[in-house]
Amino acid sequence: MSEQIFDIAIIGAGPAGLSAALTARVRNKSVALFEHMDFSPKLQKAHAINNYLGMPMTAGKDMMKQMADHCLAAGPTLIREKVTNIYAGDTFTLLTPNNTYEAKTLVLAIGVSNAAMLSGEKDLVGKGVSYCATCDGMLYRDKPVAVIAYTEEGEHEADFLGEICPVVYFIPQYKTEYQPKHQSVQVMKARPQTVLGSDEVTGLATDAGELKVEGIFILRQSDPAETLLPELEMDGPFVKVNRDQATNVSGVYAAGDCTGKPWQIARATGEGLVAVLSAIGYIDGKK
Ligand SMILES: Cc1cc2nc3c(=O)[nH]c(=O)nc-3n(C[C@H](O)[C@H](O)[C@H](O)COP(=O)(O)OP(=O)(O)OC[C@H]3O[C@@H](n4cnc5c(N)ncnc54)[C@H](O)[C@@H]3O)c2cc1C
Repeated sequence: MSEQIFDIAIIGAGPAGLSAALTARVRNKSVALFEHMDFSPKLQKAHAINNYLGMPMTAGKDMMKQMADHCLAAGPTLIREKVTNIYAGDTFTLLTPNNTYEAKTLVLAIGVSNAAMLSGEKDLVGKGVSYCATCDGMLYRDKPVAVIAYTEEGEHEADFLGEICPVVYFIPQYKTEYQPKHQSVQVMKARPQTVLGSDEVTGLATDAGELKVEGIFILRQSDPAETLLPELEMDGPFVKVNRDQATNVSGVYAAGDCTGKPWQIARATGEGLVAVLSAIGYIDGKK
């Protein structure tokens, strides 16, 4: 466990999170900036962006590099890990697959998932549905499991599960040439439909048939926000916020695509700024 208590933890280093981290550093706050992939892999795919003021016709990759370089020069602590759980108390405890961190306040800037939750998924989180094989894999040792992967991160998770599970159905939702390291991993072309089971996972229905599995690992670029912090109030698939970007959980703010439409860079950077100023106000108010 890191001994430092950060002033602000920012989860996600896309435009919203980078904007929040930059302003927090300008205001001299200590910042833990979590990013489990690259800086906004989504935006890096954009061929040319022509509606962000002052950066005409800029490739997404170049824009993200400029934003990340600017923010990192201000000195946030960049932590290249995935936040898998958050516990709210006097401070906030953030769990990643191998570490624990502590912060006084939080800004969620996790973007929006490109894949909707599956039918049955929400009710069985922690009862067979997991978002992190490294964290929960051992609970499914010697049991059949499935990995539904929306990003390449799923391939590492499948390789790990292949060491400890007799059958791992790997169901990628993107184009891949993935070659499993273990024979127990079977690559399947299928669309997942429903997580089966009432008290715990008993299977997965797909358009290619039903799979008997006891664990289902789902790897998206962004997990649904309420799976990180269950007490978070949602507005459909989005985090509910007020004009200060405050959520219903005291000390937790949210910004960018995760709070709703329009999904645009200018909105994300603006909300990141407002969210972190609110977070700073929260810390100062507690002194
Ligand atoms: C192809 C394409 C073209 C686009 N073109 C435009 C355009 O021309 N103009 C425009 O304004 N907008 C455009 N957009 C939309 C724009 O990309 C988004 O509005 C913007 O990226 C939102 O920023 P964000 O920071 O809220 O989320 P994101 O950019 O999605 O960033 C979220 C970050 O959080 C990280 N993350 C998520 N969960 C965790 C976790 N648990 N732990 C650690 N890290 C985590 C993710 O890896 C990601 O890097 C385009 C989008 C796409 C896909």
